[in-house]
Amino acid sequence: MAEAAAQPVPGRVLVMKFGGTSVADADKIRRVAARLVAAQTAGRRVVGVVSAMGQTTDQLVELARGVSPRPHPREMDMLLSTGERITAALCAMAINDLGAHAVSLTGSQAGIVTDTVHTKAKILEIRPRRISEALDRGEIVLVAGFQGVSTAYDVTTLGRGGSDTTAVALAAALDGDCEIYTDVAGVFTADPRIVPHARKLRTVSPIEMLEMAGSGARVLQLRSVEFARNHGVPLHVRSTFTDADGTWIREDTGMEAPIISGIAHTTDEAYVTLTDVPDKPGTAASIFNAVAGAHINVDTIIQNAVTHGDADVTFSVPLDDLPLMTNTIEGLCRELGLHWRVDDTAAKVSLIGAGMKSHPGVAAKMFQVLAELEINVRMIATSPIKVSCVVSRDRVAEAVAALHGAFEAELAEAEGSEVDA
Ligand code: ASP
Ligand code: MG
Repeated sequence: MAEAAAQPVPGRVLVMKFGGTSVADADKIRRVAARLVAAQTAGRRVVGVVSAMGQTTDQLVELARGVSPRPHPREMDMLLSTGERITAALCAMAINDLGAHAVSLTGSQAGIVTDTVHTKAKILEIRPRRISEALDRGEIVLVAGFQGVSTAYDVTTLGRGGSDTTAVALAAALDGDCEIYTDVAGVFTADPRIVPHARKLRTVSPIEMLEMAGSGARVLQLRSVEFARNHGVPLHVRSTFTDADGTWIREDTGMEAPIISGIAHTTDEAYVTLTDVPDKPGTAASIFNAVAGAHINVDTIIQNAVTHGDADVTFSVPLDDLPLMTNTIEGLCRELGLHWRVDDTAAKVSLIGAGMKSHPGVAAKMFQVLAELEINVRMIATSPIKVSCVVSRDRVAEAVAALHGAFEAELAEAEGSEVDA
């Protein structure tokens, strides 16, 4: 059958990213294909970034663990990168069947160059020539998310949830807009599974979104939010399954910042405490250089007041990194004469809002709410726009729900979620 050549599309680039639940089966992939074609028909130059189908990445991780207790990171990346490639190819097939023209590319073919840190590589550079040429030919370009090629020519992946970062980075490189399609309607004032009447936010500022993602809000990978903020890329997080507007992540001029934009929580951190830390210059540097050297991302760090010459230092690490951490910390303790313990039964609840900077009393009220529930606070950390409390993991849902109720008046005005979710 003779195929008509694709029509060149002059419009602005639109990067549309679809998460795993949006492409979980053949029907859903066909619907995503139709959505990409519709955007092109409306005059955009369209790049689709896709995640692996459904739970594919988890299944691949399981497979690897079945073969090897500590899979080699390079091989892990070879394995995990296949999930996204499958979706990209299938989606391109579906688009071609709709009469439009599509081409699928791996991260490497798309020109995404990363450093060499396997399983959590950072994007160093994007060379989007191949994408631009395909767009010039009128094709819809499908890019396999979550992956790139390292400066040593190996396949790398960008960390769990990394397809978001692929999308934002491509939008920045192609000077386009970025839409993140997902199975929720946008960013909510709290996790709707815990707070059913949580509200969808119309807009949230990049700095607040950064704090939310860093505090456990799972709708976007933290790194994608950093990337968007650094490169001034506005993001629109919205549902794959409706046409309704979602949440815009951008500076919203003209409105006074809400005291609280959201309540985030995380249950996948462990808290490591080092004891007998000597009161000597350079000790903290030695500790955290060792941790950083193992590519472990430390979040909250707290050092108590020095008594009798020794101190305690506590910091949080991702639970997944705990095995990696163990070797590093044991080595460090031997070297510096420290002792250590891990709290892996804790969770963190955080209130985030740019307006709290100029409204005293948020922390006090938060502690009061937790006290009334007799929830013990194990650690407290703050930033100018965030208050976080570490509590027992089995009480964290209760804490989120109670705080959402108690801070009703301070929470950002938002759209009702039940109706348009
Ligand atoms: N498939 C990868 C994951 O599950 C990347 C992504 O979906 O963004 O983490
Ligand atoms: Mg995701």
